Amino acid sequence: MTSLEEVYDPRKLRVGQHLDIELERAAENPDGTKLSMLSINLDFSNDLRLARAPEGGFDVRQTERELVRHTVTASSVIDNSLYLAARQAGVGDDALMELIRLFSWDVDFQHDVHTGDAFSIAYEEVATPDGAQSRVDHLIYASLSMRGRALEAYRFRSADGMVGYYDSTGKSLRKWLMRTPVDGARLSSGFGKRRHPILGYTRMHKGVDFAASAGTPIYAAGDGVIAEIGRKGSYGNYIRIRHNGEYSTAYAHMKGFAKGLKRGVRVGQGDVIGYVGSTGRSTGPHLHYEVLENGQQINPMKVKKQVVTRLEGSDLQNFRRRVSEVVALMDDAEDARRVVARNAE
Ligand SMILES: [Zn+2]
Repeated sequence: MTSLEEVYDPRKLRVGQHLDIELERAAENPDGTKLSMLSINLDFSNDLRLARAPEGGFDVRQTERELVRHTVTASSVIDNSLYLAARQAGVGDDALMELIRLFSWDVDFQHDVHTGDAFSIAYEEVATPDGAQSRVDHLIYASLSMRGRALEAYRFRSADGMVGYYDSTGKSLRKWLMRTPVDGARLSSGFGKRRHPILGYTRMHKGVDFAASAGTPIYAAGDGVIAEIGRKGSYGNYIRIRHNGEYSTAYAHMKGFAKGLKRGVRVGQGDVIGYVGSTGRSTGPHLHYEVLENGQQINPMKVKKQVVTRLEGSDLQNFRRRVSEVVALMDDAEDARRVVARNAE
């Protein structure tokens, strides 16, 4: 305890935490043993190791475990619940949660999944060498077939480094624009005709305003590419994101922009693009948010259509190659399972 306390507070130990203890024979001890090594599993990849030093006392050092990476694939038909089917196929809870999160844009998991439906999954896992602990690093692929409806998700990193999930044609799985692309904000002015607080006369308010304190992060409402960024007259600091050929979203009066953003940079839904401010013609810190359909502002609260973003050009070519690789991976895994099943008969 004395050696340990110098680097680690033993009161931080929690129920369930893993300790390795080695004892050695000790003639001087009435039990005949004494501690020779204690290893505390700090987190997934780090251990704190105390070893008896030849000169007396203990050496304490933090050691990083070497982790093993491997690809896990599973496919199964659902005969009771998706959860049980995943369990039986050896898919961990965290991998299943990722699958559910991916398809939650398209599937109501309470009502849409039935007996006879099927799922497939491939993910990369990192594990401790002994296999005792593992965690999902990322999903590579997931599919869900439900009564004639089939969904697929392929993970892909585009040339600009953005990672996203797409269907087999290169359409992004995230389809809806966020209605409130800022946290903890209060809608302070809706879309439509209003008396302008500064100019005094009635005019059209072509967006919605969210009051929030200065510096509150603003998120990209959907996947897309920065089409405009900079000062823009009464808008102050302004960003426009192009989501597809039809839809853009715009953000005004910002205090500042997130680092590294410029025209042409791809952003993912939920990425911080800047911060609430009061630049341009503004009476106080707020986000002025616009949704543009074919260049015309529409009411963000009434966007009903799905806004699909799509891979293009060389990204699309690379994506198609990636899809073939994943299809081959899933086929090989399926063949291997068939062989195992035959041998078991
Ligand atoms: Zn406004």
